[in-house]
Amino acid sequence: MAASAVCWVEVYAGPVQDLIDELGRMPGVGPKSAQRIAFHLLKLSRDDAVRLATAIVEVKDKVAFCERCWNVAEGPRCGICLDDRRDAHLLCVVEEPRDIVAVEKTHEFRGRYHVLQGAISPIEGIGPDQLKVKELLGRLEPEGVTEVILCTNPNIEGEATAMYLARLLKPLGIKITRIASGLPVGGDLEYADELTLGRALEGRREVD
Ligand SMILES: [Zn+2]
Repeated sequence: MAASAVCWVEVYAGPVQDLIDELGRMPGVGPKSAQRIAFHLLKLSRDDAVRLATAIVEVKDKVAFCERCWNVAEGPRCGICLDDRRDAHLLCVVEEPRDIVAVEKTHEFRGRYHVLQGAISPIEGIGPDQLKVKELLGRLEPEGVTEVILCTNPNIEGEATAMYLARLLKPLGIKITRIASGLPVGGDLEYADELTLGRALEGRREVD
């Protein structure tokens, strides 16, 4: 074990190890994958590598989060918040901006969104304070929201988050609904096909 650790350090010292370390910090990328991606990047032409690096820098420089719904935005507000044809009474709560893309693809929803930027996960130390829950509460009255649709992922974290929010929001006298079951359990919304997610939205039930 000690011998292989020494070997590892000797082989990958310097910029290659720095790259592996950075890649290894990405979600879902373990040490082996990080190594594999690093060597893939090493083989890229300089032009391709610069294009990738530029895309990362550009997204950091030009894209931020919408001040209202926490979707990605190229200005203070995202395209959906700027669209006044959207129904302000309906608010769909999702975990990540990519979930908005999944819901939009169904063409079943014409309201607005709120991105929590994660889900409750005690194992990862993520509680309501780390999510955009306070921001959600602050929107309900000013925007005249009458229904909150809890559209978090159909996995343990997503269900826990939906349950937490339902308990928190119910006393406020707003209709709280949860997307119908039928989505692949344990999966992410983004992997559900449009038809299934559309049906889950349409068949949403009031949380009691
Ligand atoms: Zn927005």
